[in-house]
Amino acid sequence: MAEKRNSNTENTKFHIFSSAYFRSVVERAQYVNDGKKEIAFIGRSNVGKSSLINSLCSRRGLAMVSRDPGKTRTINYFAIQSRSMDKEGTGHRQDWYLVDLPGYGFARTSQKSKDSWSSFIAEYIKFSPGLVLLCLLIDLRHPGLPIDAKAYEWLQGLGLPIQIVCTKSDKLGTQEKQKNLREVKRLFSGSGHPVAYSAISHNGRDDLLHIIEQYVCGDES
Ligand code: GDP
Repeated sequence: MAEKRNSNTENTKFHIFSSAYFRSVVERAQYVNDGKKEIAFIGRSNVGKSSLINSLCSRRGLAMVSRDPGKTRTINYFAIQSRSMDKEGTGHRQDWYLVDLPGYGFARTSQKSKDSWSSFIAEYIKFSPGLVLLCLLIDLRHPGLPIDAKAYEWLQGLGLPIQIVCTKSDKLGTQEKQKNLREVKRLFSGSGHPVAYSAISHNGRDDLLHIIEQYVCGDES
């Protein structure tokens, strides 16, 4: 996919100004290993992962948005260029990868296929030295799904920082949003403050970019 530059390059806040599909891989020998940092996104199928990636990068159609989940299982890399500004007003450019990991929780999934999903993800996490942050997506309307709790517990065991991102926040009213965010904080304690995100209004994009900045610019890795 051709690289596209966004028009907001004058922005003084950390922002993504270029994003492009880079590569899809299915096994360890194919992992990208060129010293750049990686931020990975994971969540239940249909949680809104593709929409969030598109929103975060301000690119329609970067990640595929589909109502028909569960096709080929691949790890998808997107090459990202971002820009930040230091206290002196000097701009800095960062090159990193946004990594789209296969979703979990498809209907009618066998135990064998759940196990193979786990080893597929665990291997990527274990053998990707550039990986600095895992964003776990939770549908803000359904904070208490057992499958998400299980995924969280399992991912926590892999020892990487986890950022909870609550998707589809525009589908809730203010009170319910606050109530469910409190519930997310309680259920996913140990992962910092969750970010509420809407891929429709892009609410939450600045918050999530600010968190990503800490990792991409080095303070947190
Ligand atoms: P994925 O399977 O996790 O990649 O999920 P998708 O990005 O394909 O989204 C699944 C469905 O939820 C699609 O119909 C999207 O249009 C919808 N969706 C995703 N994010 C949002 C959001 O923030 N707000 C609303 N209202 N709908 C969303």
